[in-house]
Amino acid sequence: MSDDAAKAAFLAKLQVFAGSEVGSQNGADEVNQAMIRHWVEAMGDKNPVYTEPDIATKSVHGQVIAPPVMMQAWVMRGIAPAAREGGNAQDSLMALVESEGFTSVVATNCEQEYDRMLHLGDHLRSRTVIDSVSEEKATGLGVGHFITTRVEYETLDGEPVGRQMFRILKFRPGTGRQATVPKADAETPDFEKRARPLRPRPALTRDNQFWFEAAKEHRLVIQRCSGCGVLRHPPRPRCDKCGSYEWDAAEASGRGAVYSFVVNHYPQVPAFDYPLAVGLIDLEEGTRLVANIVGIDHADITIGMPVEVEWVEHDPDLTLPAFGPAGKKPAGTK
Ligand SMILES: [Zn+2]
Repeated sequence: MSDDAAKAAFLAKLQVFAGSEVGSQNGADEVNQAMIRHWVEAMGDKNPVYTEPDIATKSVHGQVIAPPVMMQAWVMRGIAPAAREGGNAQDSLMALVESEGFTSVVATNCEQEYDRMLHLGDHLRSRTVIDSVSEEKATGLGVGHFITTRVEYETLDGEPVGRQMFRILKFRPGTGRQATVPKADAETPDFEKRARPLRPRPALTRDNQFWFEAAKEHRLVIQRCSGCGVLRHPPRPRCDKCGSYEWDAAEASGRGAVYSFVVNHYPQVPAFDYPLAVGLIDLEEGTRLVANIVGIDHADITIGMPVEVEWVEHDPDLTLPAFGPAGKKPAGTK
């Protein structure tokens, strides 16, 4: 079979899934204050309408509401294997796509529509349909297929509350525009010599490009509003505080503290080493960023631990900050 014929045959297999019902998922929990609190703390959203009943009752909402973008959180199935037993059409589609080497994934678009605010005690379910599977596309990240799903959210009584379009790109690692796999040197142990996919590329935009360029020069920078001077991260077009679109970049000291962290064991993405410590780092300038925690036994990482930046050159095109214990003590001292 020619290459084109093989592609067409594979595409036909994929497109069988378009229009397939993935099924319905009931939320494990009702909309509840504890999950809302964790969410807004992680996001740094201080709007009291989400967490303060006294203030929320006096607002236009008359009661506590859940952040609208949390919609999908109320029906997410767990990551534990038990929650994933009895695979559905989406699992079958993913397995098929991955069988042809499209193992990397990136979310590319998400659009949500809300019919109403969600309140404590609402109990949701979702119905998901695979909307479409694209033909093979060559993208900057790599060659792959776009997969679009549509999800309808409703209460267990059947009242629609919102919907979501979600699109991902499943692509072959190492086939993108900047595909350069660093060569393993002679010292590298055998198991590391296997060519492995590069770390996922950041989706560069004119809002965030400066940050990654500075990182290549081992400079940690923070976007700073020219209107009011407030720092913000991750980079975005507009100041949350004063609304200005003008900004420049402030140089960060690279010192901070661990605000929170996880040691990730699963799911495993081929470009990373596991277990992988991922920290939410409070920079001393006052913004937070997500970065790997390195240079310390994972069991010794603690909340509040002082850390400082260390630069990791993952490949010729990607340098990222990681954070290790501040002022590392010489070996042999306590
Ligand atoms: Zn501002």
